[in-house]
Amino acid sequence: MITVGVLGAKGRMGSEVCRAVEGAGDMELAAAVDVGDEREPLAECDVVVDFTHPGAVMGNVQWCLERGRNVVVGTTGFDDARLGQVREWLAGAPAARALIVPNFSIGAVLMMSFAAQAARFFESAEIVELHHAAKADAPSGTASRTASMISAARQAADLGPAPDATVSEVDGARGAVMDGVRVHSVRLAGLVAHHEVLLGGHGEILTIRHDSMDRASFMPGVLLAVRDVASLSPGLTVGLEGLLGLN
Ligand code: NAP
Repeated sequence: MITVGVLGAKGRMGSEVCRAVEGAGDMELAAAVDVGDEREPLAECDVVVDFTHPGAVMGNVQWCLERGRNVVVGTTGFDDARLGQVREWLAGAPAARALIVPNFSIGAVLMMSFAAQAARFFESAEIVELHHAAKADAPSGTASRTASMISAARQAADLGPAPDATVSEVDGARGAVMDGVRVHSVRLAGLVAHHEVLLGGHGEILTIRHDSMDRASFMPGVLLAVRDVASLSPGLTVGLEGLLGLN
């Protein structure tokens, strides 16, 4: 039995994770912690899952790693500086693992992989991400990661900057530049989580789109991460790709 602790247990994602863990035959929900609760019950869990808030997650990860726990992190907002900080904490916890997953949806992971595969064939690439209006961070972690995967593929193919003749621009009209790739964020009531990668070439456009209609779509990926995190090498892993055999 894998004992699992959940941070952010009363949140939209955390409560779904608690239900999924309780429904899994090989897992036991040993601790469900939200704002104001003691974290101590997490200290004995095999795996701690964090779905809290970008402002809270770093303190939680540090606390778990100081206690040698394996952590699976769904909370977004991880840039290079944050990943570097997690690596530093892991240096003091040589047996622990931190698995940080920008998107647990298997369809979204495949979208990122397909986008990276296609990027070298197209001179233009832009990303549109669309989310519910309660999302705290922009762009989404998935969009940032997709941008960095596209950027790496473009660099490997010696593609220069994408063509863009814009000379005057209302601030933000062309989106944010992430690793050299334009990312446009839409926040709209009624949406859940949607990503579109637009790849443009000579007289053709390839659109790769993924839609998460329900938070349940993230649960197979979360359960896979909880089940398999102990099989990873100690240290930091970003993304589900390795566990899905996509690397
Ligand atoms: P949410 O509904 O606001 O849930 C977050 C929960 O965490 C809330 O109950 C919040 O309490 C609680 N919390 C905040 N700080 C905490 C702390 N220090 N310790 C324990 N609990 C704490 O948000 P959500 O929609 O579930 O999203 C959570 C995070 O997951 C976001 O960063 C989101 O972008 C990300 N996300 C990732 C994926 C993925 O596949 N990786 C998918 C969906 C969402 P209060 O409300 O009282 O602050």
